[in-house]
Amino acid sequence: MQQQPVIDLEAEKKEILKRYKALLRACKRTLEKGDKLLIRKAFDISLEAHKDMRRKSGEPYIYHPIAVAHICAEEIGLGTTSVVCALLHDVVEDTDMTLEDIEGLFGEKVAKIIDGLTKISGVFDQGNGTSLQAENFRKMLLTLSEDVRVILIKLADRLHNMRTLESMKRDKQLKIASETLYLYAPLAHRLGLNAMKTELEDLGLKFTEPEVYDDIQQKLKQGEPERKKFIAKFIEPIKEILAEQGLEAKIIGRPKSIYSINNKIKTKGVTFEEIFDLFAIRIIIDTIPDKEKSDCWRVYSIVTDFYHPSPERLRDWISTPKANGYESLHTTVMGPEGKWVEVQIRTVRMDELAEKGYAAHWKYKDSANENQLDDWIRKIREILENPQENALEFLDDFKLNLC
Ligand code: MN
Repeated sequence: MQQQPVIDLEAEKKEILKRYKALLRACKRTLEKGDKLLIRKAFDISLEAHKDMRRKSGEPYIYHPIAVAHICAEEIGLGTTSVVCALLHDVVEDTDMTLEDIEGLFGEKVAKIIDGLTKISGVFDQGNGTSLQAENFRKMLLTLSEDVRVILIKLADRLHNMRTLESMKRDKQLKIASETLYLYAPLAHRLGLNAMKTELEDLGLKFTEPEVYDDIQQKLKQGEPERKKFIAKFIEPIKEILAEQGLEAKIIGRPKSIYSINNKIKTKGVTFEEIFDLFAIRIIIDTIPDKEKSDCWRVYSIVTDFYHPSPERLRDWISTPKANGYESLHTTVMGPEGKWVEVQIRTVRMDELAEKGYAAHWKYKDSANENQLDDWIRKIREILENPQENALEFLDDFKLNLC
């Protein structure tokens, strides 16, 4: 038996409060009258209900619901109802509180979402997760989650569990990580939550194939100084012209994710050293809505004045966005030293959308209220429900990850 470490309860109390306050700050932009009180109430109830529980890491259990709520607010952009539900999401499953208690305290809407969340984890924990067919998974999500927020909170829950997977036993790590790779990451992708998808994939690989992950991570680190120099050289002339033409732009070198590099090694049968596109150059311009498209093409024109483009690698997802809402202009050009470089051109709005999904829309509409959120949630439901347009692609995403 491991010796129990001495726990400083006072310090923990402070830390819990600190994390709670950080959560409130993340909620700030959607807070309306009375919301703060509601979140406080959910926090107090969750704190009390989980008070004798600890995570596998030994930390107070309440860190988990706070973190899930934080992800919902900050990384997905959800509002108060979801934050309240995230704080309470494990209460019915893991403590003495009942669904009736929740309904009495927070009303029918919150109770329904908590019910959905409890049922979804029930399905997974029966251990038949790996045998779930993609189509059945999609149907199950729809039947179990009358409210799509259930799915989004479940994704946030999974993301935090993946971030803290280190302290689990090896067999549990493997089960959770593989499930994440074949179900949750494709789901995040389908919903346009790109940053989340990439993180889930990288963490999934880290725990399913640790040696492969470490190897790629180390090689990436080794090559970093050289890559930085190359990127600086590539950017320099473009930067100048952009400034001259009055285009306000941020240019960054975006490394490919470890997961996608590994995918390339596997599917194309190449070595790490043979992969030419370990990173992409991303040019993000700040422009007014009416000029988005024309300004992106202006940037394209400037880039290709310096570097010759490969005609078959041009992708215009601005005129025709991807099904998950992705907008961007991609090209691959011959850079310095005869190296091919992928260049992604987009606006600040497109970039935020690509990273955060539809949840970022609120920012670019007139008012940031729950209606916009409802629109987004309706849209997600359409994506999941509509078999003609989207189901095939949705299934493809899954199949890719099943092998
Ligand atoms: Mn949980």
